[in-house]
Amino acid sequence: PIIPDYLAEVLRDVESDTSGELAGYIPELAAADPERLGAAFAMIDGEVYGAGDIDIEFTIQSISKPFIYALALSDRGFDPVLAKVGVEPSGEAFNEISLESDTGRPLNPMINAGAITVHSLAGTEDLNPTERVERVLHGLSAFAGRRLKMDEAVCASEMEHAHRNLVIAHMLRSHNVLTKDPRAIVDGYTRQCSVLVTTRDLAMMAATLANRGTNPLSGEQVVPEPVVRQVLSVMFSCGMYDAAGDWATQVGIPAKSGVAGGLIGALPGQIGIATFSPRLDGHGNSVRGVSLFERFSSDMGLHVMEVP
Ligand code: GLN
Repeated sequence: PIIPDYLAEVLRDVESDTSGELAGYIPELAAADPERLGAAFAMIDGEVYGAGDIDIEFTIQSISKPFIYALALSDRGFDPVLAKVGVEPSGEAFNEISLESDTGRPLNPMINAGAITVHSLAGTEDLNPTERVERVLHGLSAFAGRRLKMDEAVCASEMEHAHRNLVIAHMLRSHNVLTKDPRAIVDGYTRQCSVLVTTRDLAMMAATLANRGTNPLSGEQVVPEPVVRQVLSVMFSCGMYDAAGDWATQVGIPAKSGVAGGLIGALPGQIGIATFSPRLDGHGNSVRGVSLFERFSSDMGLHVMEVP
């Protein structure tokens, strides 16, 4: 088994790196096992290869952002979404309290300000907050190809400490970027971040993006192709926050990280990749996840700017 052997070897190479910290600002996440380590490849024909802890569940966190952006674009169309959230890299931390000065618009959908706004744009306008969360959960499940659920403890733990996201949401409300109750929107966004996934699920979700929006296992077209192009472009320029430039040059794969330790990458027409390791660097990206992707990219020539 060439691919599983290769994955196991690369995991062994990064295993000894215990640098980085768990996400301390969400107490439930700080209680996670820091030693977990896994990696999975999902091919666009539905084949999955993995090594390590690929069937352990953890919360999706910010990796939900590109998928909910995809749902909002497909539910509302491009113009209403682009009118509210830009596509410019911010070069700032994921939770920065910053909005475009003239319009109050968040710079991009990958930082919290953008993602909170995008959450409010998932599903049709008339949905109540509970129905919107249901649309989000249903959509994430379609990307994964199985019914996902939420971790209520992580959600409650984050909501207790969500002051920063509440500030951001109130600022967005004051600029009329958000038009409904900011607290209910942050609650829905936090639920979105608390959806439980495995590394295998994340690889399949990434493979759905790599496969023009069609889940390789279920065959369901989850979002249209132009939406996928938009989402992968924004992942490439903004997915790793203030480390996006380093990532684009060194790894060169559209990607998204989450503070529970997950990391995904999607290569159009080829493969979805996911890794899991909870200790984070100063940008909130998984330390060993970044190392794994650097290895994958250089060993297999996956940088999108390289001629294969
Ligand atoms: N739920 C987290 C937050 O809003 C997600 C952050 C992340 O994964 N980078 O702070």
